[in-house]
Amino acid sequence: MKFIRFIDNETNNRQGILTENGIEEITGDIFDQWGKTGNIYPANEVRLIAPLEPRQIIGIGKNYVATEKDLPEKITDIPLFFLKSISSVIGPGEEIKIPKSGDEVKFESELAVVIGKEMNQIDEDQVFDYIFGYTIANDVTSPQYFHKYGPWTLGKSFNTFTPLGPVIETELDLAKIQVKAFLNEVKKQESSINLMIITISKMISFLSGIMTLKPGDVILTGSPVGAGLLKPGDKIECEIDGIGSLVNQIVDSTK
Ligand code: MG
Repeated sequence: MKFIRFIDNETNNRQGILTENGIEEITGDIFDQWGKTGNIYPANEVRLIAPLEPRQIIGIGKNYVATEKDLPEKITDIPLFFLKSISSVIGPGEEIKIPKSGDEVKFESELAVVIGKEMNQIDEDQVFDYIFGYTIANDVTSPQYFHKYGPWTLGKSFNTFTPLGPVIETELDLAKIQVKAFLNEVKKQESSINLMIITISKMISFLSGIMTLKPGDVILTGSPVGAGLLKPGDKIECEIDGIGSLVNQIVDSTK
C-alpha cells in the first residue's frame, strides 16, 4: 500500500492511501489502528505533503561504492551515523532553501526506511519484521557547516533540508529498486542497493542495539555515488521505482 498525507482544497491536512482510483482517505494512526473514511479524492486535485512527521531522523554517511568490486571485505565496527533535525522535513513540490547566498548545498537521493514497531536489540535477520515501509529522502547537505571535529548535524539540519515522499510504500521489492537522482532532468545518480556497504538489516540492527527505535523513526540509508551541488533555480528529482518521484526546486532564502 502507498500511504500519503495531503492537503485538500480547504487546506485541511488529511491522510490517505493512493490507489488506481484516486486517494482513499483514512483516519487514525498508520502504525496502529486506522480505517477508511469512505471519502475518495482525485489524486490531481490535492497537494501531497511529507508522508509522515518523523519521530526522529537518523542518517548514515559514506555508505555506497561505485561498483561491487569496491565493496570492502571488512566493514567498520562503528558506522558513521548522524541525526538530522525533524524540523528540516518538507514534502514533494516544496522549495529547498539555500541558507545564505553562496552556501554550498548538495543533493543526496536516498532510500528511507520507516520503522513500524518498537525495536530494541534486534538481530539482523529479524529487522524486516519491524519495518513499516519505505519512502524517498533527499538528504540535503551543506558540508561547509560540518564542524572540523566531525559532527555533521548543523550541515544536515537547516529548514527544508529533508524532502520526504511522495508515499510510504509498504510492499517494496528491494531487489528491484534503483536509487536515482535527476538534476534539471540530467541523470546524476543511479544505483541498486547492492552497492551499499552496510546493509539495511545491519545498520538498523546496529542502531537498535544503541537506542530503542519506535514507529515513525526514519532511517536514511545513504546516497549512491554522483551526489552533487545545487544552485538557485535548479530542479532536483529523486526517484525510486515503486515509490515514485520526489521533486523540489531550489531557491536562495536570502533573496
Ligand atoms: Mg546522505
